[in-house]
Amino acid sequence: MDYFYQMAQQSGSGTPQVERNEFQVVQIRSAADAALKFAFRAIPVRILGINESQPTNMVEVSGREYCDGPGSCPCGLTAPNRKASTVWYGCNESNAQWALNLQGTDLSAATASKSFSDVVQATGRGIGNTAAHEIAHQFLENSFSCAMNDDLSKTGVYDGGNAKDPSMYTGLGPGRQPLHWSTNTGLCLFNKILWNTVRQ
Ligand SMILES: [Zn+2]
Repeated sequence: MDYFYQMAQQSGSGTPQVERNEFQVVQIRSAADAALKFAFRAIPVRILGINESQPTNMVEVSGREYCDGPGSCPCGLTAPNRKASTVWYGCNESNAQWALNLQGTDLSAATASKSFSDVVQATGRGIGNTAAHEIAHQFLENSFSCAMNDDLSKTGVYDGGNAKDPSMYTGLGPGRQPLHWSTNTGLCLFNKILWNTVRQ
């Protein structure tokens, strides 16, 4: 897939766009990996790279964009009863800029700046945190009492499902509390993965 930087909020004419270099791609990947591992650190799962082993659950990162309605382009999606989800790079890249308040700053000519590097990190973090959210959908399926919240007003939690929640990209929620699972969802995930049970 193509990794590129594109300013989230366009001003004037032209679309500033610049391709990420190899080092920045590695940074995005390792930030995504670290965020996903952090999300599941208290839950007994192994996070594997694509070629490492046959995984039971999967998340694919797509360079394209997917919109299911006008202005409704999710950063991740899990179809019901599937063990594979999709996370979209472009959505995370764009929302990372909003989270850092850099949506209106053209960084295409400043790829060596700290701001650009912050966007790189936040994009990777967003991909990893969105992947954690989608993987949780796979585990919890359509259980009633253990369903994911997907409540856009819930911020600072993996289960909120709000692509515009800045904490998905900064890793810090309200009161600078690290991004975490809501108590019920965390418990549900733990029980499901360890004992393969969910309360229906
Ligand atoms: Zn969701």
